[in-house]
Amino acid sequence: MARKLAAGNWKMNGLAADLAEVERLWAAHPSPRCEVLICPPATLLSRMAERLRDTTYFVGGQDCHSGESGAHTGDISARMLLDAGASHVILGHSERRADHAETDAMVRDKALAAQAAGLTSIICVGETEAQRDAGDALPTVKAQLSGSLPDDPALLVVAYEPVWAIGSGRTPTLDDIARVHGAMRETLAIRFGPAADDIPLLYGGSVKPANAAEIFGVPNVDGALVGGASLTADEFGEIIAALG
Ligand code: PGA
Repeated sequence: MARKLAAGNWKMNGLAADLAEVERLWAAHPSPRCEVLICPPATLLSRMAERLRDTTYFVGGQDCHSGESGAHTGDISARMLLDAGASHVILGHSERRADHAETDAMVRDKALAAQAAGLTSIICVGETEAQRDAGDALPTVKAQLSGSLPDDPALLVVAYEPVWAIGSGRTPTLDDIARVHGAMRETLAIRFGPAADDIPLLYGGSVKPANAAEIFGVPNVDGALVGGASLTADEFGEIIAALG
């Protein structure tokens, strides 16, 4: 049985003043029954980790480089994230795949680097609207997942984020989420055997307080990767409560 996880992805949002929001969140939800993770921009990572040091909340990065160190201007290694206080890293988010041409093979290399450093990878997959309209959602997700996975099922979380649902206010039907999450669990079981059952599968894409409970009721949904609604303590708090 996989652990439950509510993960917030702040994307390119947040200045020092916004750190107060995570303190408000902790004050309102000091004993959630799920794991809580917040992934701020890299500039806030160590300060957020510091503020949350005496809490059970986790802090994570939004990407890492596959190398250990060296001449990679602007990049951050997995060990640097760990050193800054991160326990997790989001990898292969569709915005990175689109904006930085990240391929499945690159995501896999990053996941291997994250595992080697002791970070938990949240590997993101999801079809575009055109792929969905063509009836290709399932094969797309399965192929992305197979190509992006590391060899070891330890320190692994998978997030299904349909590209067309991100930031759009639209979500798949609950049946569609169930179908994709079931197929992801199957793909993981073929690769990893019984260990697949322990890998949390998150849904992401326009998760809000209003739809969180019904999405969390879908089989094989172990939590959410939340963008916009993770930026305020009130909204993210309601989503945590719906999961916990
Ligand atoms: P959203 O983003 O919740 O704002 O749709 C989710 C994500 O991209 O992780």
